[in-house]
Amino acid sequence: MRCSFCSSTAFYLRRHEGVRLCRRCFRRSIEGKVRATISKYKMFRPRDHIAVAVSGGKDSLTLLSILSKLKSRFPMSKITAVTIDEGIESYREEAVSLARDLAGSLQVEHEVFSFKDLFHTSLDEIVKRQGKLTPCSYCGVLRRRALEKAARILGADRVATGHNLDDEVQTALLNILHGGVERLIRSSPVLADQERRFIPRVKPLCEIYESEVALYAYVTGLEFQQTPCPYRSRALRGEIRDILNELEQKHPGLKYTAYSSKAMLSSLLSIRKAELHPCRVCGESTGNDICEACRILKENSEIECLLREA
Ligand code: SF4
Ligand SMILES: [Zn+2]
Ligand SMILES: [Zn+2]
Repeated sequence: MRCSFCSSTAFYLRRHEGVRLCRRCFRRSIEGKVRATISKYKMFRPRDHIAVAVSGGKDSLTLLSILSKLKSRFPMSKITAVTIDEGIESYREEAVSLARDLAGSLQVEHEVFSFKDLFHTSLDEIVKRQGKLTPCSYCGVLRRRALEKAARILGADRVATGHNLDDEVQTALLNILHGGVERLIRSSPVLADQERRFIPRVKPLCEIYESEVALYAYVTGLEFQQTPCPYRSRALRGEIRDILNELEQKHPGLKYTAYSSKAMLSSLLSIRKAELHPCRVCGESTGNDICEACRILKENSEIECLLREA
């Protein structure tokens, strides 16, 4: 079986495009797609300092590796790898060391910021207090805030995250099923506001299938964390993921069509974008009086007070 683009032996059939690829053409096609996504959405400017969120998983390590390759075209830009340590015992340590190793081999600066330093609590402590939300809900909100804080401390102009096409489609469906249509707007490839109240967040892998990110990591020999987080629950996202994978198997390209529909819906909805204003407690942008991160931290400190009084 020959590669559709050169005479080498193909190792992969990209069913949604109907092409066969050898390792070299596959690697190049992923890097080309990322470059095209960056330019389509105007994600970066030539002198940007980019904080790349690196969790130690395949997506973020792939992102760091590709962005550091593309950096050679933009010598005035700067990349810093940022790992957020949520405080999950026996899990984060491995991820931090994988991120540190890759950053070191790419000669990229690497900084670690912990929930403990930034919020005076850890995810393990929050989970022990048994709040109303799932661990992932607390983690997601606080990690976004932690990244914003970290990027400000570093003086970064952009925060880049490793969300892939599957993440985007799953999140869109979750938002529709949970009635969070406003959130559809916030899941766009570039999240920024005219008033520059927060550092723009970009997702350069948002048009790459998760399976292809994993394959890229394998082909390029990236060592990533495979142990799942102890708090990871199958929950609804897991079920949506399984259904989408099954549908994609039967109808190649379906995920991409769903992604395009989501993007179109998101741009139509953005006309009615929710008004953002500063949070009453921390001053960060929010659609409410108090932002989600402050609500979580307040609830957490109230529980702490109750525990101390008991
Ligand atoms: S699985 Fe959930 S708790 Fe674990 S790191 Fe991811 S979002 Fe956080
Ligand atoms: Zn080829
Ligand atoms: Zn706040």
